[in-house]
Amino acid sequence: MPFRKRPRVVIVGAGFGGLWVARTLKGADVDVILVDRNNFHTFLPLLYQVASAELEPEQIGYPVRSILRGMRNIDFMMADVKRVNLDGRVVETDGPKIPYDYLVLAMGSTTNFFNVPGAEKFAYQLKSLEQAVELRNHILCCFEQAAHVKNETKRKQLLAFTVVGGGATGLEFSGAVSELIHGPLARDFPMLDFRDASVVLLEASDRLLPGMPERLQKYALARLEKMGVDVRLNAAVSEIRGATIRLKGGDSIKSETVVWTAGVSGDPQIQAWGLPTIANGRVAVEKTLQIPGHAEAYVAGDLAYFEEDGRPLPMIAPVAVQQGTAAALNILKQIEGKEPQPFRYFDKGAMATIGRNSAVVRVGTRTFTGFFAWIVWLFVHLLYLIGFRNRLFVMLNWSWDYLLFERAVRLIFPADRESRCHVAGETVVDDKREAGS
Ligand SMILES: Cc1cc2nc3c(=O)[nH]c(=O)nc-3n(C[C@H](O)[C@H](O)[C@H](O)COP(=O)(O)OP(=O)(O)OC[C@H]3O[C@@H](n4cnc5c(N)ncnc54)[C@H](O)[C@@H]3O)c2cc1C
Repeated sequence: MPFRKRPRVVIVGAGFGGLWVARTLKGADVDVILVDRNNFHTFLPLLYQVASAELEPEQIGYPVRSILRGMRNIDFMMADVKRVNLDGRVVETDGPKIPYDYLVLAMGSTTNFFNVPGAEKFAYQLKSLEQAVELRNHILCCFEQAAHVKNETKRKQLLAFTVVGGGATGLEFSGAVSELIHGPLARDFPMLDFRDASVVLLEASDRLLPGMPERLQKYALARLEKMGVDVRLNAAVSEIRGATIRLKGGDSIKSETVVWTAGVSGDPQIQAWGLPTIANGRVAVEKTLQIPGHAEAYVAGDLAYFEEDGRPLPMIAPVAVQQGTAAALNILKQIEGKEPQPFRYFDKGAMATIGRNSAVVRVGTRTFTGFFAWIVWLFVHLLYLIGFRNRLFVMLNWSWDYLLFERAVRLIFPADRESRCHVAGETVVDDKREAGS
C-alpha cells in the first residue's frame, strides 16, 4: 500500500463549537489538532453561578484531554493562537506553528463595551472562569469591608451591585446575587442592615430578554422586582468612573460593583488577520460556514456572523453546537470531493432562569414560566454539562441550596490580591477603583 498522508484539520477553540467539530470528526480518516489556550472546556451558561458563589469553578470546567479520550485521531495542544495565515494555511501560536489542510475557527466572543468611557477599566466581566472567580471574590470582599465601615454612604456603596445589560446573563446574575445577599449573606453578616444592600439591573432598551416573547419578558421583569432587584429600563450607561455610573439623561449611581453583560463581539485581534469581519468583529461567513475566498477554512459559534431569514443567529450554545457539527460534516464532504452544504439552524427554543422556582422557557411558539420552566431549565443545563462528576456535584450543590437556602462556597480564594480584600478602617480602596474614586 502506498503511504497516504491524511488531511490535517486544525480546530481553534474547545468551546461548544470546537468540541462538536471534534466529536463529529472522531474516527474519520483525518488527523485533528484541537487548540485552546486553556486545558479545559468551560460551560459558560453556568458561569454566573460561580460568580454568585453557587458553584465551584471546577464544577463547570472539564479537562479537554479527558473529553478527547478514546478519540484516537484527535490530539490536543494547549496554546494561545496569535495569528492565522490563511494564504499560507498555518496557525501561529505562542508555541509551535501548525500547518493545516482544513481549519475551523471557534474562538467564541469577547465583551463589547460599546466604547462607553471607563467601562472596560472599571466594570467586571463575565466571560471566563477567572473573571467569575474574581467577581465572586470581589462581592464577598465588599461584604467583609462593609461589616467594618462606619460611614453610611460608603457602606451603601459597598453593598450596591449594578448589573449592566438585561439579556439572559444580566437577568440570571441579578437574580442569583439578590438571592445570595438576602439568603446566606444576610445570615453571615447579622451586624449589617440589609436595607442598605441593593441590586440594580440597567437595560438600555424598554424590555428585558430581547428576542424572547413579550409574555416571558413581562414575567421576568415582575419576578426580578419581586425579588428586590431594582430594574431600570431605558437606562443606558454613558460613563463609568470609579464607583460612579453615569446614565444618559443625567442620573448617576454609586456602586462599588459594576458587572458588564451588555454586549459581545469577536476577538479584536482577528481583524488584523485579514478576515472579513463586520462592525462588532465577528466573521461574516458563507452559507456553508466557509470564510469567503478560503474554501478550506470555516468559522463556527459566536465568532461566526450568520444571517438566516434576514436576521442574525443568536450567540448561544445550540447555534455553536450545530455549526460545529455542520462545519465538520462539510469538511468530510470536501475530502470526498463533494460540495459543502448550506447550514440551517434548528431552533429548539430559548430559556433563562430568574431564581428559585422561576424561569422562562420558549419551545417553538409555546411559552412556559414558573416552577415547570425552572425544572426544564435545570434538566437541560445538567444534560449539556460535560462530565458525570460535574453533573453530580452541580446537582448536589443545587439540592443543598434549594433545601437549606445555603450556598456551598463562599471562600475568598485565591486571596493573593491584598487590595481586593483590604479593610483599613474607613478607607475603602480596591485596585480596580482607585484611579477614579
Ligand atoms: C455568562 C454567559 C452565560 C451564557 N448563558 C447561555 C445560556 O444560558 N444558554 C446558551 O445557549 N448560551 C449561553 N451563553 C452563550 C454560549 O456560552 C456561547 O454562545 C457559546 O459558548 C459559544 O460557543 P463557542 O464555541 O463559539 O465559544 P466558547 O464556548 O466561548 O469557546 C471558545 C474557546 O476558544 C478558546 N480561545 C479563544 N481565543 C483563543 C485563542 N486565541 N487561542 C486559543 N484558544 C482560544 C477559549 O479558551 C474557549 O475555550 C452564555 C455565555 C456567557 C458568557
